[in-house]
Amino acid sequence: MPVITIDNKKIEVTAGTTVLKAALENGIYIPHYCWHPLLSISGNCRMCVVEIEGRPKLEVSCNLVAADGMVIKTDTPAVKKMRKSVLEFLLINHPIDCPICDQAGECLLQDYHFKCSGQASRFKEEKVHKSKVVDAGRHIKLDNERCILCTRCVRFCQEVVKEPELTVAIRGDRSFITTAPGKTLDNPYSLNTVDICPVGALTSKDFRFKKRVWFLKSTPSVCPHCSNGCPIWIDHADEIMYRWRPRQEIEKVNGIASSQLTGNTILCDEGRLSYGEWQSDTKISKPLMLEEGEHKEISRAEAVLKLNKILSKDMKEIIAVLSAQISCEEADAFVKFLREKAGTDKIYRSGRAPLNPTSDDIIRKADKNPNISYLEKMGLRELPANIEGDVLFVTDSLSKDDILKTANLKWKSIVQITHDKRLIVPGAEIILPRATFAESEGTFVNFNGVKRKFSPAFKPAGEARTIAGWIPFLEEGITGVMSFLRKQESSDRLI
Ligand code: SF4
Ligand code: SF4
Repeated sequence: MPVITIDNKKIEVTAGTTVLKAALENGIYIPHYCWHPLLSISGNCRMCVVEIEGRPKLEVSCNLVAADGMVIKTDTPAVKKMRKSVLEFLLINHPIDCPICDQAGECLLQDYHFKCSGQASRFKEEKVHKSKVVDAGRHIKLDNERCILCTRCVRFCQEVVKEPELTVAIRGDRSFITTAPGKTLDNPYSLNTVDICPVGALTSKDFRFKKRVWFLKSTPSVCPHCSNGCPIWIDHADEIMYRWRPRQEIEKVNGIASSQLTGNTILCDEGRLSYGEWQSDTKISKPLMLEEGEHKEISRAEAVLKLNKILSKDMKEIIAVLSAQISCEEADAFVKFLREKAGTDKIYRSGRAPLNPTSDDIIRKADKNPNISYLEKMGLRELPANIEGDVLFVTDSLSKDDILKTANLKWKSIVQITHDKRLIVPGAEIILPRATFAESEGTFVNFNGVKRKFSPAFKPAGEARTIAGWIPFLEEGITGVMSFLRKQESSDRLI
């Protein structure tokens, strides 16, 4: 394998690796705009220039294959001068939009200007004006004055999604990005162009002007919208989620972290925008009890008392249905409780099953549950038809099919632990508020067995807790049954 030296560091690389890739993989950062790990090499921005010992000119590192013995310098006076010139050139026609630009705070033009240039503009002429804030598609606004023509967005649509929806029109300093004739930027992965655009030319209609990025905290998590379970960042402030972004996973290659280059770097628009579902007005933060056909808020103590009564009265045959939306930890704890404390083995699985599930061969999966693999591995079977019992325990939700299977059966009680009123199963008598994946810690196992952990972005709302967190209260219900049974036994003896 070729051995090269970058900034005095000896690096062994696989044959065919470019200098930029080798540097990034080994913790040496070379500024770049047009290069992106998911895309073909374009080499148009000239930011990634480096000096090669024994060669007369600077060369772009993104398109330079590392050769054995190559000695590369990334920070010499000549390299620095060239970067400064490239930045000055890119900024000649750039508007001073930073105070109103959503990208401010995470913009590579700002960052590199401060890091590599810092000089004031010497340009006195009228800037070239281009189209601003045009609709590029359902989710995206395009500002051509901010665009640096790196073509990442064009290549993303062509190469990753295979939908050539964007193109570069005209030549020279009048060039601009536009939708291809008869097309709009509406592919199911369109919002990734906002992530990969290094400047504020492409912005998300959903996120525009909602929050300055420096006020956001980012928490590592997992998209719960399908069984692909993509790694995400939850960007949030004041217990409100503002957006989800793809999260690079740190993978080790020969013991070296290469987070720049590996892992899942895209999200589908459907999953990314589903964050709103988790913070709707229908979120449950207190226990609810069915009274005269309506679910009314009650205290936790009242809920436990009611559970006690239900379990005391109806405890004979418990059927439990675990949703594939719950975490591995919740599933483990609940199954243990059901088997060891509630004495039932009638435990089944369910989950979300939309009428027209979307899927493709990029990342979207038809199964819209993040943890189905784990429940299957636990040996939980689908809920059979005509199931019968006294108490039905439901975690999170039932699929429409399972609602039909359980409807019109003579349950004495239905107890549900869920986070949203829209998921309440018809006839549920007691509903305990469940902490969502954004409010708790846990693991999902995706469709091909990859385990991904998620962390709490903020505290659970009100009285909400995870299913595992509700178990001590359910056990109080069982204890109530025991004391009830003991009382029964002693009164029987007296008789
Ligand atoms: S819109 Fe963004 S990603 Fe597309 S060419 Fe312009 S700067 Fe690059
Ligand atoms: S592919 Fe699935 S897991 Fe990934 S972002 Fe889309 S819905 Fe979420």
